[in-house]
Amino acid sequence: MSIATTALFRDDFYLSTNEAVVTAVHADGGIELDQTCFYATSGGQPGDTGFLERSDGSRIALGPAVTGATKDIIIHRPLSDETLPIVGETLVAHIDWARRYKLMRMHTACHLLSVVCPYPITGAAVGEDESRVDFDMAQTIDKDEVTEKLMRLVGENHPIFVQWITDAELAANPGIVKSKNVRPPSGLGRVSLVCIGENSSVDSQPCGGTHVSETQEVGAIYIAKIDKKGKENRRFRIRFGAPGSDA
Ligand SMILES: [Zn+2]
Repeated sequence: MSIATTALFRDDFYLSTNEAVVTAVHADGGIELDQTCFYATSGGQPGDTGFLERSDGSRIALGPAVTGATKDIIIHRPLSDETLPIVGETLVAHIDWARRYKLMRMHTACHLLSVVCPYPITGAAVGEDESRVDFDMAQTIDKDEVTEKLMRLVGENHPIFVQWITDAELAANPGIVKSKNVRPPSGLGRVSLVCIGENSSVDSQPCGGTHVSETQEVGAIYIAKIDKKGKENRRFRIRFGAPGSDA
């Protein structure tokens, strides 16, 4: 019987390791822990990879974490089922921090793009090397101009923080969500708003992913491509680096 996993990453995006107790091991090898720093695939952000370190020092390598039967259960997926832990065992979870940090920078870049291009978002996928965001827009827009605006926000080094609000507060203050693009997930009792800038001066939108704490950490990014996907859809591709550095 599965119990909710305490999602430590929600309160600390920079937590890369934690001690945990195994609460369930599924027939397919999936492992549940009482608490974890592993983000599970959702909202366009891939789940964390990494390993579990057992008390004898051996490691269980993990592929991207996913959610279980319900969204509050996180499943750690071993790459091989040669050795599995037992229920009740204490071990240490480690995420592949280099990969996660790139995903945090990229995810934050997607938020900045939604500020620069204030159109309804129809899809998004965060990747380690490239992310894409699809907008419902008919206009043609110059990618270098978008890059320039993105890098201005990065350079201004705005703080990024999470504000938890209740469903009731959100219903009473619909204006608190600046982005009209994303429908806040309701029914969980509380919603996390990702805010950029002092007093959310740049943006605030509901999001359950992981983000860096100031815009400068995003680093150099650029719009590599804008594809026309139908009359009213544009797909933006964000990459790390400077314009022209793509192969
Ligand atoms: Zn986000």
